[in-house]
Amino acid sequence: MDLSASSSCQPQERRNPVRQLARRALAFSLPRALYITHGPRSSRCVCVTFDDGPHPELTPRLLDVLAKEAIKATFFVVGQRAEKYPEIVRRIEAEGHVVGHHSNSHPDPVHTSTLGMHREVLAASRVLREILGHPVRLYRPPHGKLRLADLPLIWSLQQTIVLWNVDPKDFAQPSAVHLADWFASRPLRGGDLILLHDSSPHAWVALPTIAAGVRRSGLHFGSLEQWTRWLPMGPR
Ligand SMILES: [Zn+2]
Repeated sequence: MDLSASSSCQPQERRNPVRQLARRALAFSLPRALYITHGPRSSRCVCVTFDDGPHPELTPRLLDVLAKEAIKATFFVVGQRAEKYPEIVRRIEAEGHVVGHHSNSHPDPVHTSTLGMHREVLAASRVLREILGHPVRLYRPPHGKLRLADLPLIWSLQQTIVLWNVDPKDFAQPSAVHLADWFASRPLRGGDLILLHDSSPHAWVALPTIAAGVRRSGLHFGSLEQWTRWLPMGPR
């Protein structure tokens, strides 16, 4: 059984209700240190995450905007791209953001064997350990796709599986204005975990408008690590 999230990095897929139910059941029953789709609803924090980088031009622009807006984010980088642009990965961490990984080559996990995904996770972990000098614990599966059979393996490698609950599909939005409008029409709530892509040409442009909306709602941006460091079983 696969536990695909709604979509990521590709055109929208039809939602499978059984998968959605399984995903919710896992999120409800597992500690956030193992599997997280959003933070506690009692929080006044939202977390923003960026997938698919680093991108040689867009990620540095995004980092400039994040610094100006005083936002700390989490970047799920692809191992092979990190290997190509290690200085950007080091800059991400040096500026106070969290680095997670997004596999080594971004395959579709549903069409990759368990052994193949094991190799992907190990390879990306090795690349990032070499670049950063320490292990990386946060893992976002490509396309948000998971199979039940792969979960024990991923956890045995001490990885927290991070999905999301807010997906504006920035890669498919025709402009930064459309992306900002998507957020304006859907007010965020405390605990929301937002999926964006640093490879999207719109994310860094729309971010100041999105951030202004977050602050108007009385929320602030927080670190994903505060939600995954502990082992809460409390209200979600
Ligand atoms: Zn991706």
